[in-house]
Amino acid sequence: MSRLVVVSNRTADPRKPAAGGLAVAVRESLQQTGGLWFGWSGKIREAADGTQSGQGEVHVQTAGNVTLATLDLSREDHDTYYLGYSNDVLWPVFHYRLDLANFDTRFAAGYRRVNQLFAQKLLPLLKPDDLIWVHDYQLIPLAAELRAMGCTNRIGFFLHIPMPPPLIMAAIPEHEWLMRSLFAYDLVGFQSEADLTHFSHYVESEAHAQRLSPDRLRAFNRTLRVGAYPIGIDVDDFKRLADSKEGRDMFIRMRDEYSRRRLLVGVDRLDYSKGLPQRVHAFRELLTYYPENRDSATLIQIASPSREDVGAYDNLRRQMDSLCGAINGDFGELDWMPVRYIHRNVARKRLPGLYRASRVALVTPLRDGMNLVAKEFIAAQDAADPGMLVLSRFAGAAEQLKEALLVNPYDTQGTAQAIQRALTMSLDERINRHEALLNRIRKFDVHWWSSTFLQALEDCEPNEVAADGTRQTSG
Ligand code: UDP
Repeated sequence: MSRLVVVSNRTADPRKPAAGGLAVAVRESLQQTGGLWFGWSGKIREAADGTQSGQGEVHVQTAGNVTLATLDLSREDHDTYYLGYSNDVLWPVFHYRLDLANFDTRFAAGYRRVNQLFAQKLLPLLKPDDLIWVHDYQLIPLAAELRAMGCTNRIGFFLHIPMPPPLIMAAIPEHEWLMRSLFAYDLVGFQSEADLTHFSHYVESEAHAQRLSPDRLRAFNRTLRVGAYPIGIDVDDFKRLADSKEGRDMFIRMRDEYSRRRLLVGVDRLDYSKGLPQRVHAFRELLTYYPENRDSATLIQIASPSREDVGAYDNLRRQMDSLCGAINGDFGELDWMPVRYIHRNVARKRLPGLYRASRVALVTPLRDGMNLVAKEFIAAQDAADPGMLVLSRFAGAAEQLKEALLVNPYDTQGTAQAIQRALTMSLDERINRHEALLNRIRKFDVHWWSSTFLQALEDCEPNEVAADGTRQTSG
């Protein structure tokens, strides 16, 4: 079995339980192959003389049989590659928010420079038959940089966020370079069929790519394998968390606290892609048009702080403070507040109890690559009396979770109707829907995701490196 090399913006110690989604997803494969995980250390190194020389040293440590290799970034590289191009260009545009994008050639230059730096520092650590798996939008051009340095390993890329339609992609001044860079990979995976279709349409219309088969595209003298690999969760692990002492204590606390109420829950990063203001509006419509919910329905909205150094997030925070304040002021009673808005991170181990105590989950992003909270909510439910998921049709998860109540989050009245339907749904219907949803997230769990992607990457035919650094297929 080839050694797995994972490259992502950030790394994590795979032995630590608190690791986030990506860590859960790749740790098993890394441990199986004694793999290497490469990324930014999270540290910014200021050079004493204010120059750029404070970057680039690779720190290597071992975590069990996994090697973690990280590097620091200079202030300028961090600000242009990470805050600038990744968070202020790619994130908004890929989530269809052209109005929030900040195109600046210095950002693009920093993005390219850091991807080159990653390639330079990674190359000496590679062995000839390593399988390289690159993650997410911060590192789109990494394979092209590695190829230019002579790397012939099989390299796969997974995009965790949505792929926008061609005309939206074309708003990025460097869109041709970005999309061409993807052809330096052997396999590119997306979260959903819709994302895959957008990419195929882009390369067919903009780069005259030929579709050789449903999963093979040819352009720039390269053949690229593509596919939709929706990321999942570790269902059993999440259920275990729900059944742990902490999970049960949390459930009992929430159930007792809200015994006279019906609980609705939202758990998100405070991000403009999550549709939080629209959700509060929808909840307001629910209280307005279905008054039987007054003095009863209570929305607990967790919005964990995120990217506070990017301006658009500050506006969102103020908007949420004001909307939640207004709804509580207008509808609240001495003994009932409609919205409990918590602008803090809540430890992952406390979430299953909260999910289980909730009648309805509101997962209503305006656009989302997948959305794992939707899957966690399903996993945490009591199968004999499950809560209902209200899910945005614009979340990647909607392609798989058809038995949820799918909504258009821009249509706040329609969303309010769906919430009312979820609150009044019969036990039989809830059980049937939950069973179908649970089966699906179990079948397509995180182990399925990583093993299917890696198998497809292993199966890619070997290519030859072309003179310009990209590789040409023999066939
Ligand atoms: N999460 C958490 N505490 C919080 C908010 C979120 O542990 O206060 C976790 C949540 O359980 C989920 C992840 O963060 O596993 C969020 O993933 P998702 O795909 O829903 O959204 P993303 O933040 O990746 O856009």
